[in-house]
Amino acid sequence: CGIIGYVGDQSALDVALNGLRRLEYRGYDSSGVAVVGAGALRTARRAGKLANLEKLLAESAAADPMPGTTGMGHTRWATHGGPTDANAHPHTDCTGAIAVIHNGIIENFAALRAELEAIGHELASETDTEVVAHLLEVELGNAAAAPAAAIPEDVTPRPTRPGTAPASASVPGSGEPVGRVAEPGTHPLTVALQRVCRRLEGAFTLVVLHRDFPEVVVGARRNSPLVVGLGTGETFLASDVSAFIAHTREALEIGQDQVVEARRDGVTVTDFAGEVVEGRHYHVDWDA
Ligand code: GLU
Repeated sequence: CGIIGYVGDQSALDVALNGLRRLEYRGYDSSGVAVVGAGALRTARRAGKLANLEKLLAESAAADPMPGTTGMGHTRWATHGGPTDANAHPHTDCTGAIAVIHNGIIENFAALRAELEAIGHELASETDTEVVAHLLEVELGNAAAAPAAAIPEDVTPRPTRPGTAPASASVPGSGEPVGRVAEPGTHPLTVALQRVCRRLEGAFTLVVLHRDFPEVVVGARRNSPLVVGLGTGETFLASDVSAFIAHTREALEIGQDQVVEARRDGVTVTDFAGEVVEGRHYHVDWDA
């Protein structure tokens, strides 16, 4: 029911938990977080109130803290599968490298699940959401198996088309390296999510993370809200501006059937076919 994603230089766990507290008013039955850092993807999730998740995190903090500045948080309102720990988000793929959070309903999940199980994927929950993590795993595996030239290592950013605003919403002065892919909007995780979204039916706000790609958090939407918060050297994705308004009031609205690749220095928005599109900038001038 609520979503927050973050990439920047603060503790992603703190940003995620604070965001979830701001989204609590929407109602939910479970919550969870995921953080990428120190070469690992860590997740924690619990049925019940946010306090249950916070208790779990407090108990495991000494043995297994969640270091990292890329992460996300979710509150769930169950539609497929009861409100249990196992059905709480984030959901991961077979390798544990990919984490997905989702608000909405994936109408064709049963067919997708059968297809995945037929090629050997074991799904661990009863949710409609979990198929997305496994479909991303398949897409990234296909991309890795494709000829090396498929993923450009270092190319000049594409020029802005005449008469349009910059496709890449950068925050001046943030100066952070963009990551391993120079052309915005073509990160392997972004491309994989575009491809997966083309196969989904229904309503979804999705945010995804990958253990090996701490430089990005990627989101997508159809019939369900997703907004971007543009900070200085940090970027937020959320179902509702109230999740990030304590950090920034510079927002970007994501349109129907669009994917957003968020980096520290800004975002690139594309449609599900990979074409760069414009988001609508606005300043949040009300008190959330
Ligand atoms: N359909 C998903 C589930 O039941 C997401 C529900 C939500 O919007 O929180 O897990």
